Amino acid sequence: MNNLTVNDLLSKVAEYNIEGLEMVKKAYYYAEELHKGQKRQSGEDYITHPLNVAYTLAEMYADTDTLCAALLHDTLEDTKITKEQIAIDFNDDVANLVDGVTKISRMNFATKQEQNLANTRKIITSITNDVRIIIIKLADRLHNMRTLQFKSEFKQKENAKETLLLYVPLADRLGMHIIKSELEDLSLKYYNSDAYQRVRDIRMKIDEDTKQCREEMLQTINKVLTDANIPHELKIRTKNIYGIYKRLEQGQKLSDIHDLLALKILVDNVAKCYPTLGLVHEEYFPVNNRFKDYIANPKTNLYSSLHTTVFGAEGRLVQIQIRTFEKEKIASYGLTAFWNINKGNARNIMQENLKNKYQFFESLVEIDQTFANNQEFVEHIQQELLSQRVYVYTNKGEIMELPSGSTAIDLAYKIHTDIGNKMVGATVNDKLVECGHTLHNKDRVKIITDEQSSGPNIGWLDIVKTTKAKRQIKAYVKK
Ligand code: MN
Repeated sequence: MNNLTVNDLLSKVAEYNIEGLEMVKKAYYYAEELHKGQKRQSGEDYITHPLNVAYTLAEMYADTDTLCAALLHDTLEDTKITKEQIAIDFNDDVANLVDGVTKISRMNFATKQEQNLANTRKIITSITNDVRIIIIKLADRLHNMRTLQFKSEFKQKENAKETLLLYVPLADRLGMHIIKSELEDLSLKYYNSDAYQRVRDIRMKIDEDTKQCREEMLQTINKVLTDANIPHELKIRTKNIYGIYKRLEQGQKLSDIHDLLALKILVDNVAKCYPTLGLVHEEYFPVNNRFKDYIANPKTNLYSSLHTTVFGAEGRLVQIQIRTFEKEKIASYGLTAFWNINKGNARNIMQENLKNKYQFFESLVEIDQTFANNQEFVEHIQQELLSQRVYVYTNKGEIMELPSGSTAIDLAYKIHTDIGNKMVGATVNDKLVECGHTLHNKDRVKIITDEQSSGPNIGWLDIVKTTKAKRQIKAYVKK
């Protein structure tokens, strides 16, 4: 939002958190005083930056401590205030959050490279302690990317690259789709501006060309659902610029991108999702093999919805997404959809959800405990958590997330250490394979174990991809 004022923030907060209003107000004027005289490269007063960060978080219904920390997030780095003083003037939680988003100072490191690695580690591991730190960081990065035009070209490219490598995957793992897609488009804009402009023009043309198709489908589906007495809300979107860019890069043709247009149907409850799907299929023929039930089997970032692709109006492929209003919140905001100030302690609730529901959490802890060296830590996080992954199903139908290139051994150890240690083979889609077989998306995998097995083979160390598998094999062999 341009020219945002403190009143915009306060009225946003008042929508859901009257009790927190006074403290947020106090934090704003406190930060404004501390940053007094400091300017952003745009020439604006520095306070506009923390104000925008806090506003983004208020849009996600952030709790009071998080909002205060967002307003104060650059004060430790850029002003004379101390963590102790913030704890006195606010509370320990606010002080810890601000400290968490603050870079470790240059003085502790011999080189800039070393400092960067340590800071990257600090950002990533903050997830295990208080995930709100990374959420503030994401909002911070979003505003910095939105105002990147004021930086040097070198800085622009550097920030865009870091955003794509680190912040976009983190937003994706946490299911924060709205932030993720805006970060992607902004990154492409500065990282490869020619491609960005080319695809942006293509996208504008798509919007023009499909106007008729979109209107017709919205009308038709609205009528069908109204006649069937299913209360609903409809939205239609064109894929984001980065998403289209990626598909074209992979050699796909525009007309083959099955989710170029996505029509969302939001309904009250899950019981209404399936009849809605039936009604849509009566109206538009489905494309074979394109139906997915992410309600029965949510994605590992908790995204949950029915997907089908249909031959829509004018014969265009249109993806239809059917979900409840509640699931739409999770699809847009991810983990922060659980942010409910009425339920009390925001930190504990989010940490609980993170630990119990998100698979990457365990791997993150594992990697953090295994590698003391910052460079090794960052490399493993990049390979195992932030780059391409593969999704497979266990013989119970449970979805499992692994780094791309993982083997059946990695899956066995992910399920349970004992399963890994007693593994003798596997079946993949009902075919018998060796333990070291590489897994692919959608594979259905059953691990075969034998109580008499002599344990893992030392040669497995060369083929497994995950830190957990490696560590467990080493531990067994040592014994
Ligand atoms: Mn900042």
